[in-house]
Amino acid sequence: MNAAVRIDPETGLRLFNTRAAKASEKIAGKGYSVVTDQKLTELPKPPAGATFNAEEQAKYRAFKEVRRGAADYMAMEGDFRKYLDDVYSEPPIPREALDDECEILVVGAGFGGLLLWQKLNEAGFTDVRFCEKGGDVGGTWYWNRYPGIACDVESYSYLPLLDETGYIPSMKFASGFEILEHCQRMAQKFGFYDHCLFHTTVEATTWDEASGRWIVETDRGDKMRARFVILANGILTTPKLARIAGMEKFKGESFHTSRWNYDIDLSGKRVGIIGTGATAVQAIPELAKVVGELYVFQRTPSSIEVRAQRETTTEEREIWSKEPGWAAARRGRFARISEVRAAVLANDDYLSGKSPDFKERKIYDRKLTPEEFMQKQLDSSFRLMEQVRARVDAIVKNPKTAAALKPYYPYGCKRPTFHDEYLPTFNLPHVHLVDVAPRGVSEINERGVVHEGVEYPLDVLIYATGFQWMGTSSFNLIRGRSGRTLTEKWETEGTRTFLGLHTRGFPNLFIVTGPQGGGGSFNFTDVIYAHADYLIWMMQTMRERGAAVVDVRKEPEDKYAEHCRDADIATAPLRDCISYYNGEGKATPGSLAYYGGRAWDRFRMEAQSSLEPYVFEGDPN
Ligand code: NAP
Repeated sequence: MNAAVRIDPETGLRLFNTRAAKASEKIAGKGYSVVTDQKLTELPKPPAGATFNAEEQAKYRAFKEVRRGAADYMAMEGDFRKYLDDVYSEPPIPREALDDECEILVVGAGFGGLLLWQKLNEAGFTDVRFCEKGGDVGGTWYWNRYPGIACDVESYSYLPLLDETGYIPSMKFASGFEILEHCQRMAQKFGFYDHCLFHTTVEATTWDEASGRWIVETDRGDKMRARFVILANGILTTPKLARIAGMEKFKGESFHTSRWNYDIDLSGKRVGIIGTGATAVQAIPELAKVVGELYVFQRTPSSIEVRAQRETTTEEREIWSKEPGWAAARRGRFARISEVRAAVLANDDYLSGKSPDFKERKIYDRKLTPEEFMQKQLDSSFRLMEQVRARVDAIVKNPKTAAALKPYYPYGCKRPTFHDEYLPTFNLPHVHLVDVAPRGVSEINERGVVHEGVEYPLDVLIYATGFQWMGTSSFNLIRGRSGRTLTEKWETEGTRTFLGLHTRGFPNLFIVTGPQGGGGSFNFTDVIYAHADYLIWMMQTMRERGAAVVDVRKEPEDKYAEHCRDADIATAPLRDCISYYNGEGKATPGSLAYYGGRAWDRFRMEAQSSLEPYVFEGDPN
C-alpha cells in the first residue's frame, strides 16, 4: 500500500494516495428502465394551429405571478450541517498537511477535473494537483446517487473520453452509477488518482503579487502555492434546503437527495419528498417501487417528456469498436444541434452520421424580423407544452391530480425532464400528490409535513430542493489583486468575466463552466471540452511567450459582460417563469448562465488570434 503522500523518484513531484473506500455496498442503483408500452413512450400529437395568444399568455403570467417570491432557500448550516456529510465514502485517509508548490492547482475532480488532467497531461503539463471535497472522483455523479439517477443528454455524447478509454455506455441514457464508474475508469486509465487530494476542501485562495502565486489553503491544513488555479467545481455544487417553519422539529429520518442515505431501509415506510425538479422526477418512480406510502409535495410541476430509453445495440457496439474517434464525431454532431428540444431527442440517424441534419428546415420566403422569429419560437414552445400537458391527461387517471401535474410556462424555462414511468406512478394507490401550489410547504412538525391544516405523518422526509446555481464566486474565498474577493467584485460591478473563463484582477485564475461560460451547447460536456481546450491553448501560449502571468483588460471584459446581458435580455421571453436559472426571477440579466449561443466561439476565436484582450506579464523563471 502506498503512503498517502510520496515523492515520485523520477520527477520529484509529490504523488498521492488519498482515494477513500466506498462506504457501503448498499449504495447501488439503476437509472431509466426500458419501457415498451407505446402509450408511455410517445407524446400526443401537437394541436393543429395552436398559438401562444393573449389568453394563453395571461394564463402563463398568472401561473408565474402567484409563485413570485415563494422560493425561500437556506444553506445547510447549524443544525442542518449534518446534511452535508459525505455518506458515500469511508472517513478521509489521514495525511500530512502540505506546504509546497505546484504549477497548476485544479479545484474539483468531476468531469471538468478529469478531462483537464487528460488534456494537460497529454500537452506535457504534469505538475498538476487536484483538490476534491469528496472521497472519490465524479463530482455531480459522486454526490448524486439517488435511486433512478441517469443522464438526460444521450450518454454517447455526454460521457467524456469514450474514444480514449474504449468504453461504450450500456444505455442511451446511462445511469448515474454507470457514469460514476466511468469517472473512476478515466481516473485509473490516466493516472489521475496520483494527483488528487480527496476529502480536501479549499477554503481560501489568495493571490500573492510578490511571488506571482496563488496561495491555496484547505480544511486539511494545507498551504500550497500554485502558479495557476483552475476552478472546475461545477455549476450545481452546493445543495440547498427550502426554509420551512419547524423543520428542525421533525423526529423521523431526513436527508437531501445529494446525500442519499442507503442505511435507511425505506421499504414499507411512509416517505415524503419535497420538490419535483429533475431529481425528484427520476427518484419518485423508484421510491414508489419500495415504500409503503409516498407523499409528493409539489409546488410547481415539471414538464415531463418522453424518455424512450434503450439499450446500446449490438450493431452500434460493433461499429463503434472498429471506428476510432466515433464518440468525438458524435459529440461534434450533437454540438451542432442548437435547439434544446432537438438536443434532448438526440436523433440517432443524425448523430450516427446517417442523415445530414437533425430536422427538416423550414424555408421562409423572406427573412423574419427578430419579433416574428421570437413569436415563432414561442408558438412552437407553446405547442410542445400542449403536448406535454396532453400527455398528463392521457396517462394520469385522477383528473384533480392530472390538473395539478400540468406545467404552464415556456418549454425549457425550467429544466425539462424526461420519464416514462413518472406519470403512471401517480395512478398507484399508495402514491399521493400533495399539491402545495403556489407557495410550497410552509410547516413541518415532529411527525411530518402540515399543509392547509392537514398533517401528513412521515417516517422519512427527503428534500429534493436542489442546489445553488452558478455559485462560483462564493467558493474557496478567492481574493485577487488589490485584496478584493471575487464575490465583492461581482456584487459591486455585476458578474464580469471574459468568456466566463477569466475575470480581471484575478490573474492566472481560470473558471471552467461558471457564469457566462456558455459555449452554446446543450451538452455541458461539450462546454467542458471547449474550456479545457482553451486552457491548454492559454498555457501553451504563455509558455511560448515566456509569460508568467495573464490577466484580461477592462474593455474586452466589459464588452463581453454587455454581450451576455444583451443576449439574456433578447432571449428572456423564452424563459419567462420563475426558475433557479434566473435566480428565482431576481438575477441581473447576463449574470448566470450564458444565452449567447455560438457568439462565445466568435469572441474566443477573435481573442486567440489577436491576443488583444490579454495582459501578459513577466518571465516564469
Ligand atoms: P430543482 O430543480 O432546483 O428543484 C427543487 C424543487 O424544490 C423544485 O421543484 C421547487 O419548486 C421545490 N421546492 C423548493 N421549496 C419548496 C417548498 N417550500 N415546497 C415545495 N417545493 C419546494 O432541484 P433538482 O431537482 O435537484 O435539480 C437540480 C438540477 O440538477 C436540475 O435542474 C438539473 O440541471 C440537474 N439534474 C440533472 C439530472 C440529469 O441530468 N438527469 C438529474 C437531476 C438533476 P419550484 O419549482 O416551485 O421552485
